[in-house]
Amino acid sequence: MPHVLRVALDTPLRRLFDYLEPEAGGAAIVPGMRVRVPFGRQRLTGLVIASAAHSEVPAERLKPVLEVLDPRPVLDTALLELLGWAAQYYHHPIGAVFAAALPRALRLGAPAAAREERWLATATGAAAWAAGEPRRAPKQRALLGLLAAGPATAAELEERAGSWREAARALLARGFIASAEVETPRSAGGATLRVAGPELLPGQQAAVTAVAAGLGTAGTFLLQGITGSGKTEVYLRLIEQVLERGRRALVLVPEIGLTPQLIARFRARFETPLAVLHSALSDAERLEAWRAAHGGEARIVLGTRSAVFAPVPELGLIVVDEEHDASFKQHEGGFRYSARDLAVMRARLAGVPVLLGSATPSLETLHNVTAGRYTRLALVRRTAEAQPPVLKLIDLRANALRAGVSTPAVLAIERHLAQDGQVLVFLNRRGYAPTLLCTACGWIAPCRECDARLTVHMGAARLRCHHCGADAPLPPRCPVCGFTVKPVGQGTERLEQSLGELFPGLSIARLDRDTVRRRADMEEVVRRMASGEARILVGTQMVTKGHDFPNLTLVVVLNADQGLFSSDFRAPERLAQTIVQVAGRAGRGAKAGEVLIQTEFPDHPLLTNLLAGGYEGFARVALEERAQAAWPPFARLAALRASAKSADAALRFLAAARAAARAPRPVRLLGPVPAAMAKRAGRYHAQLLVECRDRTPLHAFLAAWLPQVEALPSARAVRWTLDVDPIELF
Ligand code: ADP
Ligand code: ZN
Ligand code: ZN
Repeated sequence: MPHVLRVALDTPLRRLFDYLEPEAGGAAIVPGMRVRVPFGRQRLTGLVIASAAHSEVPAERLKPVLEVLDPRPVLDTALLELLGWAAQYYHHPIGAVFAAALPRALRLGAPAAAREERWLATATGAAAWAAGEPRRAPKQRALLGLLAAGPATAAELEERAGSWREAARALLARGFIASAEVETPRSAGGATLRVAGPELLPGQQAAVTAVAAGLGTAGTFLLQGITGSGKTEVYLRLIEQVLERGRRALVLVPEIGLTPQLIARFRARFETPLAVLHSALSDAERLEAWRAAHGGEARIVLGTRSAVFAPVPELGLIVVDEEHDASFKQHEGGFRYSARDLAVMRARLAGVPVLLGSATPSLETLHNVTAGRYTRLALVRRTAEAQPPVLKLIDLRANALRAGVSTPAVLAIERHLAQDGQVLVFLNRRGYAPTLLCTACGWIAPCRECDARLTVHMGAARLRCHHCGADAPLPPRCPVCGFTVKPVGQGTERLEQSLGELFPGLSIARLDRDTVRRRADMEEVVRRMASGEARILVGTQMVTKGHDFPNLTLVVVLNADQGLFSSDFRAPERLAQTIVQVAGRAGRGAKAGEVLIQTEFPDHPLLTNLLAGGYEGFARVALEERAQAAWPPFARLAALRASAKSADAALRFLAAARAAARAPRPVRLLGPVPAAMAKRAGRYHAQLLVECRDRTPLHAFLAAWLPQVEALPSARAVRWTLDVDPIELF
């Protein structure tokens, strides 16, 4: 008989902890249940991962579990397996990985299913009621009568008997009634189609058929199609089939993609409870959504990154929309997972298909298609009569600028406005100006905590750091020489103002993190654009997803050059994706779209490839370059990152880590090097890259190396993390 439980605890230690089954006995304890255990002087909530007959720990030191918190597992076997895999793959302590997968309320011990207070009449109570008691207390008599007829929840009593608590106390004291906490029964969670979708286009039909044929077996599909080509409609059709088979679907979307419009689209199609999980939920809301998923009531679970860990009983399909999006990668804390990659692994473990959708697939995914691991399904035509937009470059060296907008762009804006079109001007920089400069002494407002300039926010009259959040009043004069200061360069705030001067009387909307803080702000911008009241939309990255403005016919990309010469090998890919996504905003209706890209480097191969061959053309050349340079996906990377308050502690730690490494031949160590922005939020950052052609030797090396890194004396002076498959290098 197994009597030892292996428990994952949220500690930095890379291991499980053994406990004895509780002495009291009770129902069988199976993996996936939470337990309370003694840990040193603390009591912790942990998750049972396995049971065993023996432990390495001497019998006298084994302690019993204090309490079993769940009648059923909170995580099923496939999820347990996924998390175990993730702990190994990302080389992160297993207890911390399990903790990341559970809502905070559950980590603190909240019940996995909602409970309610139920009252009933005892046998004595029922007899007393029949005998006409209690005689002189009409409220008690009424309540007893109610409960004699059948049990009721506290909420029901509230509704039917008004203030009943006092009467209940009296009846309880006489043993006439009793109460208990019971699990709130979950509704079965039916699913019906509210409205049938439109007739599918041939490409959509082929995609639906291909994935539907694989329902019930593992398989990874890439659904590639430009914005508006009908990918979401394909998801909806497949989910319809999954629901018909009595199964459930998990849909992951990027942070920016989880819009009220998208949720509304799911609700409009399916009459079924939807569990929505995203980062802005309160602990209570998250627990409620998690419970709806875990209890099986929600047949569709829709969420951002961490929803990849949501419990979905009888999972039938996983969809990852905008699979290339950087927000799928957890870039904070120690557990830096890719929700996209975990979704692929989860689907494999669960034996279900996973559909990765994108207009601009990551080069990793395209490479997996070429290698035959993923199946590519393409949507070639735009729906309805919409045509793909025409892209053109504007050479900034040959054209005068007014407020950052070149003359050809101004003329194009005038032309489209005159034809009743709407215009999007894209600038990936919020604020008024990126620099505040003293024209006399050359002083530039710096962030004291970062190697960065402070951004001018004119409306708020503040200087703000976009890296650490530092915030100071806008100085009226130069703090060094007392001369006047002036904002230099363009941000969206200034652009909105300058366009207002160029096109007086025209209504301009702005979409960035300064103007859109709440959901209602976003809805207001969308309303102004959709109604045609606003004619020009100025926006950052935020404009790339989720809205359909059929009348938007011109997109101007103000500055494409930031990504052209970055030291990060992924910068060109991100730039190409951004341009294609922004361009996709144009011409979604019946009118043809035009896209103008301002650049000082019109001959740059990235831009010329993109124009000549579209994203496909860009990707082909970019993948060749990656192969030649032996960058991912032609090699595997892990980044050991460190930060410290002093300039060289981080570098010293990384150098020691490098010295401690006995890297076998195919594994290479690169660095350490300071980050491009070495000082950030008062700390100095540096990184050491580990590179290898193949996954297996890399992971074998990391597994052997990390315990040594942890044990380094210099590790105590820094904060460090290991980032496997990093997507941003610095
Ligand atoms: P994507 O997800 O690729 O951006 P959508 O699925 O949102 O594309 O489709 C774009 C627009 O076209 C939506 O308004 C959608 O309702 C509509 N649409 C999609 N498929 C069809 C179809 N087969 N027939 C008619 N309209 C469609
Ligand atoms: Zn000065
Ligand atoms: Zn700063």
